[in-house]
Amino acid sequence: MYVRVRYAPSPTGLQHIGGLRTALFNYLFARSQGGTFILRLEDTDRSRFDQSFVKNLYDTFSWLGIQWDEGPDTGGPSAPYIQSERTELYRKYAQQLLASGSAYHCFCSTERLEMIRAGREAAHSSESGYDRHCRDIPPSEAAARAHDEPHVIRLKIPLGERTEFTDHLLGSIAWDNDDVNPDPVLIKSDGFPTYHLANVVDDHCMGITHVLRAQEWLSSTPLHCMIYRAFGWAAPLFCHLPMVLGQDGKKLSKRHGSTSLDEFRRAGYLPQALINYVALLGASYKEGVEFYSLDELAQHFNQNKLNKAPAVFDYKKLEWYNAQYIRMQSDEALAVLALPFAREQGLFGEPDAPPDPAQTALFGAAMPLIKERVSFLSEIPAKIQYLFSEPAVPAPQEFFPKKATLQKTIELLSLAQSIIPTLAGFDDDAAAEQYVKDTAERSCVKIGDLMMPLRVAITGSRISPPLFASIRLLGQAKCCASVDRALCSLRATAGTVYL
Ligand code: GLU
Ligand code: ZN
Repeated sequence: MYVRVRYAPSPTGLQHIGGLRTALFNYLFARSQGGTFILRLEDTDRSRFDQSFVKNLYDTFSWLGIQWDEGPDTGGPSAPYIQSERTELYRKYAQQLLASGSAYHCFCSTERLEMIRAGREAAHSSESGYDRHCRDIPPSEAAARAHDEPHVIRLKIPLGERTEFTDHLLGSIAWDNDDVNPDPVLIKSDGFPTYHLANVVDDHCMGITHVLRAQEWLSSTPLHCMIYRAFGWAAPLFCHLPMVLGQDGKKLSKRHGSTSLDEFRRAGYLPQALINYVALLGASYKEGVEFYSLDELAQHFNQNKLNKAPAVFDYKKLEWYNAQYIRMQSDEALAVLALPFAREQGLFGEPDAPPDPAQTALFGAAMPLIKERVSFLSEIPAKIQYLFSEPAVPAPQEFFPKKATLQKTIELLSLAQSIIPTLAGFDDDAAAEQYVKDTAERSCVKIGDLMMPLRVAITGSRISPPLFASIRLLGQAKCCASVDRALCSLRATAGTVYL
């Protein structure tokens, strides 16, 4: 199958999950068919356009690792790929529709249109849109007036007919032309095209074969089909993708948490996890397989395995994917990914300070300790903070093993301190654990009771990454110093109590 598809965002906002889903499905479809994936910027809405949204688009997709074959930055045979640079083309095509009688000039002022609207509202009329007032002005008269009167160009919708098209997913869809938005504007008074005209002209001129887009565009499609017909062009095949809903059944939006992809990135999501999860929103691939790389998705993407039903965006499931992808990273790769978060959170000193060589080595060596314990990259620095700076000594009760008294805790911690030099010398956890077990047995204490105060003294918390590995990384001197400080604090408390 010959496939040319496009992602055609309007740079009027940040890239979000919905945009990624549309872009990704087009990308995967193109790749699965050996076709071409195009990026086109639909920036005709100048009032909502902002260059920062264009930058956000490029940054986001480069972070995700999704590349287009043709686009504003890559170029290609259908350049330019930015609609604001193609306005001449739309005007030329609008003239063609005027000449063939499929479009007409409309000279109605905004005041007049507003008056119609207000009048209808007052009369509780169900009619809406333009009243086709200028539709029958003789073309020669209209053309003459158009020289110096402000005007728009409207599509002359063929009345009394039906427009039918087949959506790949939703089947046959038919609309009475009389029910379609009455004679919509193609060229605005400022000479800019509307979305409808630019979208159709570009899809045709760029040789787009399939349009995969969000279902919210479904209601525009009959109109687009009429524009194709007015030009005498074949329409591409349409496939309107299922809606993406939040868990409350409402359309996914800011209400459901961070939806701009930038926010996902800052929260410590991996692009692989997002891509894997989003690719499953409304599509299935291989039976029983949950993990796919971008290439594997492309290999298995099948237009016939799309779902009609809306997809529900489940943050918990995405979080699970993220945790899995973190576990799948090599230690080296994870250190690279986590480094910006560590710098930002001031793990190496001042916020944003880079690590010195010793910190770099320690950071890398700490990765195996937390790999299984985090769901987001952003959680990593706090979890290993104790390896980089002495943790504050927690309150005495934090040290107490279950049912232990302060005195007992001090004894246990002193005993634990005495074995630190040996513990720091082991190079594997099993040997260290055996040694602690033996020590506990010999001293008639529970292994957990021996470990708890030691863990709190060294990591500053009752719940921490693996203790033996932490002791190895910190070394005997630092560990003993931490225990000294803890003992000091506990003894001071004991002193206060017994005075
Ligand atoms: N510019 C439209 C958007 O922002 C494109 C819709 C389409 O794909 O036709 O989504
Ligand atoms: Zn008019």
